[in-house]
Amino acid sequence: MIPKDTIEQILYYARIDEVVGDFVPLKKRGSNMWGNCPFHNEKSPSFSVSPTKGIYKCFGCGKAGNSVNFVMEIDKKTYPEALRYLAAKYNIHIEEREVTPEELVAQSEKESLRILNTFANKTFQHQLWETDEGKSIGLGYFRQRGFRDDIIKKFELGLSFDDRKGFTKEALKKGYKAEYLVKSGLSIRPERHENVTELTAEHLFDRFAGRVMFPIHGVSGDVLGFGGRILGNTKEVAKYLNSPQSDIYDKSKILYGLYYAKKSIQQEDFCFLVEGYTDVIAMHQAGIENVVASSGTSLTIEQIKLIQRFTNNITILYDGDAAGQKASERGTSLILEEGMNVRVLLFPDNDDPDSFSKKVSPEELKDFIKNNSHDFITYSASRISDEAKRDPIKKTEFIRHIIDNIALIPDSISRNVYIKECSRIVDLDEQVLSLEVNKIRIDKETRKQKDKNKPFNQQQNQTPNVQNESSSPALINPEPPEVVDERQATLDMFDAIERNISRLLLKYGNNLMDIEHYTQEGELATMQISVSEYILFELFHDELNFVNPINQLLLDEFVHQLKDDRIPNEGYFVHHVNPAVSQLAIQLTAEDHNLSENWAEKYGILIEMEGMNIKKTVEQALYIYKDKRLQGMIHELKESLKDNDNFDDVMMTLSEIKKYESFKARVNQLLGRTIVR
Ligand code: ATP
Ligand code: MN
Repeated sequence: MIPKDTIEQILYYARIDEVVGDFVPLKKRGSNMWGNCPFHNEKSPSFSVSPTKGIYKCFGCGKAGNSVNFVMEIDKKTYPEALRYLAAKYNIHIEEREVTPEELVAQSEKESLRILNTFANKTFQHQLWETDEGKSIGLGYFRQRGFRDDIIKKFELGLSFDDRKGFTKEALKKGYKAEYLVKSGLSIRPERHENVTELTAEHLFDRFAGRVMFPIHGVSGDVLGFGGRILGNTKEVAKYLNSPQSDIYDKSKILYGLYYAKKSIQQEDFCFLVEGYTDVIAMHQAGIENVVASSGTSLTIEQIKLIQRFTNNITILYDGDAAGQKASERGTSLILEEGMNVRVLLFPDNDDPDSFSKKVSPEELKDFIKNNSHDFITYSASRISDEAKRDPIKKTEFIRHIIDNIALIPDSISRNVYIKECSRIVDLDEQVLSLEVNKIRIDKETRKQKDKNKPFNQQQNQTPNVQNESSSPALINPEPPEVVDERQATLDMFDAIERNISRLLLKYGNNLMDIEHYTQEGELATMQISVSEYILFELFHDELNFVNPINQLLLDEFVHQLKDDRIPNEGYFVHHVNPAVSQLAIQLTAEDHNLSENWAEKYGILIEMEGMNIKKTVEQALYIYKDKRLQGMIHELKESLKDNDNFDDVMMTLSEIKKYESFKARVNQLLGRTIVR
């Protein structure tokens, strides 16, 4: 138990910006600090920390609290655990009084597992440093591998004695429960004892007997599990053993070394990803600390997201062997898909960072990494031989591989940068590459939508619209009229509004309009920008992609042209090389023509008015679109609540709904203004 005055002391010394800063990169803006919220997924910061008030608050998901709450929340700690963590951070000594048996019972399961792991970690280190067996066998092993003593200490490496029940007996003697020994995986209960209710040392044995131990820390330093390596290199038993999945150890959500790396990752703004424990340790020994390993599992999305909390840049450093190549390719795709930047370096001659670092000086290692890591396109290019470059089949395969990866990147600007780079390297026209990339994205989008839909019969699909007239399979309308459901109706509505925005973009893109904005001095000023810039900015700003991929294609193409300082007109699109784009442009132009010609009395006036106050027209179209999309998102979230009974999920979803509803209210306000004005 922690005495009350110690708690007060902890709360007094803990500074919210420092506590949060260990987990979230923060930037100062005004009197507050801002960062990306660690509790929900977001790309622009809505998570604020007020050093003066001592609190954090996320304007996205609504989470708020003080230093202790933050530590509890970020690492699922109990109140006393969070206090102990903060006490350790601020070197505050806790004079804990003895825990009563009742309090022991009240400890949560997770807390019990963490306490047991801490005990095991201490025991293994003690056995390594303070015993004859440890010194000769364990330390001998690490030193012979070239690990310095200070590094062995820093990573809290240890030794589990070569004794079938040694650790289990020791732990039971100290009062740790057999139940938790089994749950943590430190002890193994053979199947034949599965039904034993009163477990004793007789029924259990040590999982890690005779192995050197690598404790695996969570982001805030708790020991969540272990990796144990055999001494030497026999092929008869597994080289590494890891703790099994438990309430506190989920291997897909843990990165080895992150606890030691997070500061450095923030400072350097990138992270090395290696394969094994020893690679992480060897890199630290060479002075490179922004390094983590996805040990014991192949890289997962959750692990990538964990890194993304600290940086957007990852450099993969794997073995150059076949397995390493394959793993790095898989990793590359996953990272790109998360919208992060990836570089790759494969070590030659079956070296890994650990073995390579033993052959060179720290400086040489750093230089080697710096000079030999490449972005994924250059990396792929460096792997294709000159001979293969002349072999059209091989070359095609190679280009396909790169294009597949580019198509994964969510951000269209990054995609275009890579398309440029790729075009340079493989000496192929940018337009062609861009077309291919978009085809893949459209295919994927169509497949995704198809998966969501009921099966359909293509023959029935005779609706004459642009989506039917192109040869691309992606452009076929996936649903016959009979099964048009509510969802399809929504998509159709989005499509209609998107087409209207596209029409305005094509027709008035070159027109100039005045917008109000604040100067750096805080004064309201007006600025002239083109209608197309305004539309594209508004959509980008809210990270809105058009729902119909063909509409998005037109938008992407527009951006592409703008980047080269051209504002394309209707004519450019009507004669576009991509039939999907030109078809759409033709339709839009035709719609416009129809409107003004055929219904001159009724709509002609409207069209004329539209041209008279183009700013208002465009604003209205955009706000209506945003309003409908927000409504769609809110609806989807509400639907997802129906079959979810996980409390945390539901609370999260509710706060998300609240967020969208407040956005929607704001949009409606703006919409009201443009209509009234
Ligand atoms: P060492 O240098 O000690 O042989 P390493 O880190 O080079 O180890 P690799 O064979 O490259 O080991 O494996 C990389 C990682 O994969 C290891 O750190 C470990 O986490 C995991 N691993 C390797 N072998 C096994 C195994 N037999 N069982 C479970 N995990 C393993
Ligand atoms: Mn190795």
